[in-house]
Amino acid sequence: MHCPFCHHEHSRVIDSRVIEAGTATRRRRECTHCQGRFTTLEKAVLLVVKRNGVTEPFSREKLIRGVRRACQGREVSDDALKKLAQQVEETVRGQGSSQINANDIGLAVLEPLRELDEVAYLRFASVYKSFESAEDFEAEIRLMRRRARED
Ligand SMILES: [Zn+2]
Repeated sequence: MHCPFCHHEHSRVIDSRVIEAGTATRRRRECTHCQGRFTTLEKAVLLVVKRNGVTEPFSREKLIRGVRRACQGREVSDDALKKLAQQVEETVRGQGSSQINANDIGLAVLEPLRELDEVAYLRFASVYKSFESAEDFEAEIRLMRRRARED
């Protein structure tokens, strides 16, 4: 963390605040060399392990893109998608691991998406759970109805 004024590499933290529901920390720092003060935003690292074993940093934007595809033609606002992505990130980060399977992210999407839009939910579930027939949809709809009654 180099000082933006003199590029000295040491600074001391004078204030620290956890923000975005624990997913990031904002730190106020003072350079030990020039006493210049600056703020840093440090995201906790979260790696996604894809099915092929490749890891990549978690991206809320990418998550939104995936869910948006399922929402095509539905009245789901960008704000709602952003909120969903935040909720999903909090859920997966809440599991306390710095690595998460892509599958678990899909799983964390299902519940909030069902509350948002049932059609989008079914589309997303059909991809995520690799539906192969109309029966798979029927079974999912039954499950969805049962969960809706429990809410
Ligand atoms: Zn400095």
